[in-house]
Amino acid sequence: MPQTSSTPDTYDIIIIGAGIAGMTAAIYAKRAGKSVLILEEKMYGGQIIQTTKIANWPGDPGISGVDLSQKIYHQMNNLGIKFEYDKVLEVKNEDTTKRIICEDDEYQARAIIIAVGSVDRMLGLPREQALVGRGISYCATCDGAFYRNKPVAVIGGGNTALYDALYLADIASKVYIVHRRNQFRGDKYLSDLLHTRPNVEFVMESTPSEILGDKKVEGLMVENSSGNLQTLNVAGIFVAIGRTPATAIFKNLVKLDDAGYIVAGEDCVTSAPGVFVAGDCRTKSVRQLVTAAADGAVAVSEAVKFLG
Ligand code: NAP
Repeated sequence: MPQTSSTPDTYDIIIIGAGIAGMTAAIYAKRAGKSVLILEEKMYGGQIIQTTKIANWPGDPGISGVDLSQKIYHQMNNLGIKFEYDKVLEVKNEDTTKRIICEDDEYQARAIIIAVGSVDRMLGLPREQALVGRGISYCATCDGAFYRNKPVAVIGGGNTALYDALYLADIASKVYIVHRRNQFRGDKYLSDLLHTRPNVEFVMESTPSEILGDKKVEGLMVENSSGNLQTLNVAGIFVAIGRTPATAIFKNLVKLDDAGYIVAGEDCVTSAPGVFVAGDCRTKSVRQLVTAAADGAVAVSEAVKFLG
């Protein structure tokens, strides 16, 4: 049914975000007999579309993030779940209805589930934003092919950075991995593997201090813990320093913690009646695909109770 700004339909549940948490929630909501709409700003799948091989999704080890999200998307389609691409700008909590104001349209629901996940953390250096797509990237699997036989740097010491460096070592002429401490946060077997790659150089206890180049990346200046500067002659910089929750637009709707995560327990119930949260944007100790999917189911169960 078409939506119009003047007379939006009221859904039982609107889910904001079509990552694993949101898509799982949509499947559970539909199967619970509720009218459901899922809104997504960019591409369904969320963070996992950046992952070439998923190691810890039960039953399908090694599946790519794109393949897994396509499977879940088709499952939603087969259930007839309504899906709209639109960017949510604001949610207004009006008595029994939540008004979701988007860039293109406006929607209404009796309950909402926020499943917006997180966004890439930036280095915060001058020109970083301007050089995105011109040497700065946050996704090695998306952009790595542009750097065939060219030198690149990967920033970070978690599993994402280690996987990215391994992936890029097969493509780039040289990979510098720049980490601010002398020990990686990511798994030892990955750093051991990296040590076997002849074109990988470790730049430890160092942080990026300046991106060189005006129109495109022409190098990276890094500073070590003794204050010494080193220039890395790279054409590409892959930033993999973690993620932050994409929750700024909800700060007047629900309680956020100091880091911006939406405060909720394992029941996914937020501080606002009828507003539930699922996945990585929730306060939780384990942020994994399976816990995101679990949140989707739990949030729907609570939303169904709320709807009565
Ligand atoms: P992460 O584990 O939080 O690691 C972020 C890294 O960036 C840390 O090494 C951190 O340094 C560094 N860092 C943070 N802010 C920085 C800054 N401003 N400047 C320089 N360095 C900075 O993030 P992640 O690697 O994205 O991983 C997130 C989660 O996903 C983890 O649980 C990870 O295991 C999981 N993951 C799993 C897979 C898989 O199984 N296929 C793949 C990727 C990620 P410090 O170590 O000093 O804090």
